[in-house]
Amino acid sequence: MKVRVRFAPSPTGPLHIGGVRTALYNYLFAKQHGGDMLLRIEDTDSNRFVPGAENYIIEALQWLGIGIDEGVGVGGPHAPYRQSERKHLYRQYVDQLLDAGLAYIAFDTPAELDGKRAEIPNFQYDARTRGDMCNSLTLPAEEVKARIDRGDQYVVRIKIEPDESITVNDLIRGEVTINSSILDDKVLFKSADGLPTYHLANVVDDYLMEITHVIRGEEWLPSAPLHVILYRYLGWSDRMPRFAHLPLLLKPDGNGKLSKRDGDRLGFPVFPLNWKDPKSGETSSGYREAGYFPEAVVNFLALLGWNPGTDEEILSMQQLIEQFNLEKVSKSGARFDYEKGKWFNHKYLQMKSDEEVADLFQHILVEKGIIEDSQKVTRIVSLVKERANFITDLWEQSSFFFQAPAAYDEKTVQKRWKADSPAQMQELADVLAGIDDFSPEHTEEVVKAWIESKGYGLGAVMNAFRLSVVGAAKGPHMFDITAILGKEETIARLKRAVETLG
Ligand code: GLU
Repeated sequence: MKVRVRFAPSPTGPLHIGGVRTALYNYLFAKQHGGDMLLRIEDTDSNRFVPGAENYIIEALQWLGIGIDEGVGVGGPHAPYRQSERKHLYRQYVDQLLDAGLAYIAFDTPAELDGKRAEIPNFQYDARTRGDMCNSLTLPAEEVKARIDRGDQYVVRIKIEPDESITVNDLIRGEVTINSSILDDKVLFKSADGLPTYHLANVVDDYLMEITHVIRGEEWLPSAPLHVILYRYLGWSDRMPRFAHLPLLLKPDGNGKLSKRDGDRLGFPVFPLNWKDPKSGETSSGYREAGYFPEAVVNFLALLGWNPGTDEEILSMQQLIEQFNLEKVSKSGARFDYEKGKWFNHKYLQMKSDEEVADLFQHILVEKGIIEDSQKVTRIVSLVKERANFITDLWEQSSFFFQAPAAYDEKTVQKRWKADSPAQMQELADVLAGIDDFSPEHTEEVVKAWIESKGYGLGAVMNAFRLSVVGAAKGPHMFDITAILGKEETIARLKRAVETLG
């Protein structure tokens, strides 16, 4: 049987990074088995619908290279893939359950339910309490009909038989057995909007869309026994998908689930792309805009909760597809190590060619109004790339190639600009003026010979030289810098330093 998995987000806001990992694991599993990855939008809860969320999800998956074979935005044999557009499909299964006595109609108003909750501690609508409630099990059939005919609102609840063992067979957790008495008679359908709830729509669609594996976050594990019962009630047990509930992503520090607040507190994104909340107008930062490469994010996320069992950490999408093993996903939560995320981006940046990095860096230069020759930018990149985690770091590492220092780093001046520095730098400018071949090797040879002939301290001269040209005690090899700046600019900077620092 062909493997078919689905990513089934609810469009209630931006996709959390944990949701991205769920999508990725679904994708890796599907592609490893030559199967299909579906995207289904679960939007039956209109109260929680957020405009823009669906497009955000699609854009995020595209950015990361998580390809969708079938579903929203792509189409396919089971279209539509948005649950709100599948309304007409669910009613017959509600009726089937009602006719078989496996579900019932309930009229209890929200106020009545609240009353019960206040009256009975830990109230739950189930086999023990349903006989005291206002529903088709307690009211005469004529009254039920009369109420429906006059337009009273109702819900349809599943009728859970108490004291049965319900087993969920989970590919990650093994067999999880619970007693059905802990389950409540969950609402499956609401007459108010004519829509099924999450549970019914999710199960019906997994069945109709011929899903073979349900891979989703751990927070859905408590729903799984109910889904197993629904499969049985609908007569579909032999077509029940295999379940795999993924471990939580944990806070970088302390206990509990990774949240947006952790990101704000510790300064890292928890969303794939920037998200502007349509109500508050508040923007949350995303990995894409923070300068991450999608390959790095994919690699980082894939290893949160799974590893290939080797020391290999840098894995391409193709390698991940080959090596991923759902059964080796850990049961316990995966701590979100943001520094590791940066490390991955650093590695991916180093793997790119200087030309490719230079092309990306050019965008930043252009934004700053700097138009520079590609070959020159490529040479600069080759000198500073190693020190960068992100393309944006390149500016901090190399701005002095494009702009003469506007100021000199205070501390460095105090430490490295000595009484004899002005005279020495003036002299150095004259030495440089006499050099024709400004290649790093030749310039270095001439300058060092001059220093030696004068008996100057090599360190002292070179430190003052760097301060004059760069404005601080940083940057690559000094003579690589001067070769790129050229003779004229290097001399001009020396003179300006002498004038400014005295
Ligand atoms: N709509 C659910 C969510 O937002 C889907 C859970 C599932 O995959 O079954 O995560």
